[in-house]
Amino acid sequence: MRLTALLLAAVTATAAAQTVSVSPETRAELQQITGNIMLSGQAYEYDRELADTIGPRLTGSANYMRAAEWAQAKFREAGLSNVHPEMWTIAATWEPEAPASGHLLTPVDHTLHIYASGWSPSTPPGGVSGTVVYLKSFDIKSIDSQKAQIPGNIVFFDRESLGEHPDFGAILLGLEHLDQMKPAGVVTGSSSKNGAENAGAGGELGEIDPVPAAQIGLEDGLLLKRLLDRGPVTMQFSTTNRIRERVQVPNVVAEIPGRDPALPIVLLGAHLDSWHPGTGAQDNGTGVAGLLDAARAIKALPQPPLRTIRFVLFGGEEEGLLGSNAYVKQHLAELKNIDADLISDTGAQPAEGWYLMGRDDEKAALRNVKPMLDSLSAGGTSDNVDFLFDTDHAAFDVHGVPSLVLWTGVDKYFTLHHQASDTFDSITERDLQQGTAVIAVTAFAIANSPEPFAKHLSDKEVQEMLKKYNKVDEWKSNREHGTLP
Ligand SMILES: [Zn+2]
Repeated sequence: MRLTALLLAAVTATAAAQTVSVSPETRAELQQITGNIMLSGQAYEYDRELADTIGPRLTGSANYMRAAEWAQAKFREAGLSNVHPEMWTIAATWEPEAPASGHLLTPVDHTLHIYASGWSPSTPPGGVSGTVVYLKSFDIKSIDSQKAQIPGNIVFFDRESLGEHPDFGAILLGLEHLDQMKPAGVVTGSSSKNGAENAGAGGELGEIDPVPAAQIGLEDGLLLKRLLDRGPVTMQFSTTNRIRERVQVPNVVAEIPGRDPALPIVLLGAHLDSWHPGTGAQDNGTGVAGLLDAARAIKALPQPPLRTIRFVLFGGEEEGLLGSNAYVKQHLAELKNIDADLISDTGAQPAEGWYLMGRDDEKAALRNVKPMLDSLSAGGTSDNVDFLFDTDHAAFDVHGVPSLVLWTGVDKYFTLHHQASDTFDSITERDLQQGTAVIAVTAFAIANSPEPFAKHLSDKEVQEMLKKYNKVDEWKSNREHGTLP
């Protein structure tokens, strides 16, 4: 998932809707799939291989490319068809070449816990330095009110600057505005403790930021603010990053062809890329491993589902949903032929069911699948839309394709999210199996139903949905910035 969102519960009404049918034969097949995953599941081993033997997978890096090869081999091993990469171009790949360093220079000599921000350029030799300018608020008006101090100095902002309900697209537009004022550097105050890198990208388009950017720990940020309350502070930081421009990146695609190729397909997605501090065992090794094992268990049935199931492992999610946006653009004409997309990106805590992502009609659509999901303790649906633009369903959702995102607990997830501690030892096998079973059962039930899952929304209906959840402005700012198609 690309960012931490705030909790904002939304109350929705249930509209009359169509329903997936589950025949006795389908039910028996769902039992086989669940038994296979819970008793002989491979998801835990897949995740171990991906995290421990391939490692961190920054989009377009050598490790990412190895992961794409590895995933194709696993799909082929499981007997899937049409296994292939689909390429898109990222403006630049980025990896830290050497650890960042930084110091407060005056009024105290203090070594900072500092990390390069993702997709930040390297600083010139000797780093960048200047007076620290704290942005109390991150809207364009407040940035403009400090424009005399910004050029040539170090701009600092933190979680407090972003306000209580930040509009992510607006933050990105604010960053662009800030960069035009040519500060020497930009420093963000992390909500993670000193010493715990919380990776993240600046501009979120896979482009290298024009201004060197770094992140400091929570306690260093608080110290900096206390010092700024008493007078001017100067600082210096230095980053050395490895950058390659215009790199071809694969999304990985594989299929279980359905018995009726004329019917709209079911798409299962997860992102293959990860941040660099940990090994991405959780974000999103669990999503990748779960998809692979769902594919294996569904393919092991004596007969395929009615509808084709297409598995897609996206790249570039962490840099702004780049791979799924590219996929949607490349397949625009075919979107009407996608019955539903199901995305897994919330880690391996026990699944509780599905986020409906603005589509309350999907609750009725899942009615006949719910008893099976209840047996897995995951028959719930959540109408929370905090993550509406935060993972790979977004591009599908705003084009009216019925979307679901696996709903798991996220308290552990967000203690490891994008940090060095996102490693395989944090994964619980039983929880990963359970989430995998939920994905496989739901996808197969939808794929084996002659009735469509839920209706495709027209552009007008999408706008009404966004309006209902107060998401129109955020949708617009993301589009303006280019982080949504
Ligand atoms: Zn993720």
